[in-house]
Amino acid sequence: MNKYNSLFHENRYVAYICRKNIKMAQINENYLKLQAGYLFPEIGRRVREFQKENPHADVIKMGIGDVTLPLTPTVIQAFHEGVEEMSKAGTFKGYGPEQGYAFLREAISMNEYINRGADIHADEIFVSDGSKCDTGNMLEIFGQDNIIAIQDPVYPVYVDASVMAGRTGKYTKSGYYDGLVYMPCSAENGFIPEIPKKKVDIVFLCFPNNPTGSTVSKQELKNWVDYALKNKTIILFDAAYESYISDPDLPHTIYEIEGAKEVAIEFRSFSKTAGFTGTRCAYTVIPKNLMAYTSDGAGMALHPLWFRRHTTKFNGVSYPVQKAAAATFTAEGKKEVKATISYYMNNARILRESLDKMGFRVFGGQNAPYVWVNSGRNISSWDLFDKLLHEAYVVGTPGSGFGPSGEGYFRFSSFATHENVVKAMDRLKNLKW
Ligand SMILES: *Cc1c(COP(=O)(O)O)cnc(C)c1O
Repeated sequence: MNKYNSLFHENRYVAYICRKNIKMAQINENYLKLQAGYLFPEIGRRVREFQKENPHADVIKMGIGDVTLPLTPTVIQAFHEGVEEMSKAGTFKGYGPEQGYAFLREAISMNEYINRGADIHADEIFVSDGSKCDTGNMLEIFGQDNIIAIQDPVYPVYVDASVMAGRTGKYTKSGYYDGLVYMPCSAENGFIPEIPKKKVDIVFLCFPNNPTGSTVSKQELKNWVDYALKNKTIILFDAAYESYISDPDLPHTIYEIEGAKEVAIEFRSFSKTAGFTGTRCAYTVIPKNLMAYTSDGAGMALHPLWFRRHTTKFNGVSYPVQKAAAATFTAEGKKEVKATISYYMNNARILRESLDKMGFRVFGGQNAPYVWVNSGRNISSWDLFDKLLHEAYVVGTPGSGFGPSGEGYFRFSSFATHENVVKAMDRLKNLKW
């Protein structure tokens, strides 16, 4: 097995070995460091295999973090209106502003920031087609030599994007990439990473967390901001699940913390908030006074760099989609979004209570749509995955897929129908251990 097999054997790519010293197009070899079994394709493969052997099994999927409820009536109406406008010469729109229409950025600024006491203005907001792309692409405006710290376990995009961008060394047998600083999160530290002892340059934080469902208090977040101010570190704060926070003391945005505008970029998405996973709309906040440094120590604002990147490589989110996103900020839209979130959080409550009764150690699910469990039965994440699939026809996500510290844990998503959550929990009750 040579190094070319590691990534590509599943996709049936063929590695042609060319003779040396012939001029040839070269690939980005960082991609060869990536691990083959990316989590969700591997889950998909195992589920398909099971379904082929058991075509009549009623499989309940609570694995991938995708929503199930449709867009709400107010959002759909705005979406339709947007489409209608595109059909008439007088209201048709071609390219819009790359950064997003002002009506949407102003609604975001007012509703998500100013009204929460966070002084973020429309011109600091970049509307995009997804936080996944934004978190992955953001590394482009940072130097190659930055040391990156990442929660373990966490949303796999940050690690893989860092690898693709050449910010890591090789993958090691223990499940870590050389060159990345992993911040282990476990029951012992409440799934809140400890602040690194050595200096790091960029830190990805995700709260409420995917997959652990953990949240960060204002004081804990302030400790991170203080660390970043002291060390000239940039925090890349992914708040995709902000709207699931119900505890009134928890921060919804990092900009509620004093000093955060000097150290933090925040990622937000309509995906999990308002069911836009298939519609695509998100945004990234880069405060105007956020700075990083050239190699000779000159401070440079990051906003113009991302502005340049965004306007060069992106041509804006479609107008009807932005209209639909803006509708989530109307009085009616807010009510509907709240109801959608309550529906999922009721699922999370059922998951928590049922799994607790079955003897799992249960975390998350109170201010986040994910319930994170430890079976307490000395069984690996993937073995538990197979057991639940084969014996209960229930699909969850193995914790180890989110990072080595997730081993032994398992994620249940509340983005299922109420009926399926109840059914899945009933089946799990009858598992033989
Ligand atoms: C789902 C999710 C996102 C949202 O990604 P989109 O590309 O906006 O759909 C971002 N971050 C995390 C941690 C997520 O789980």
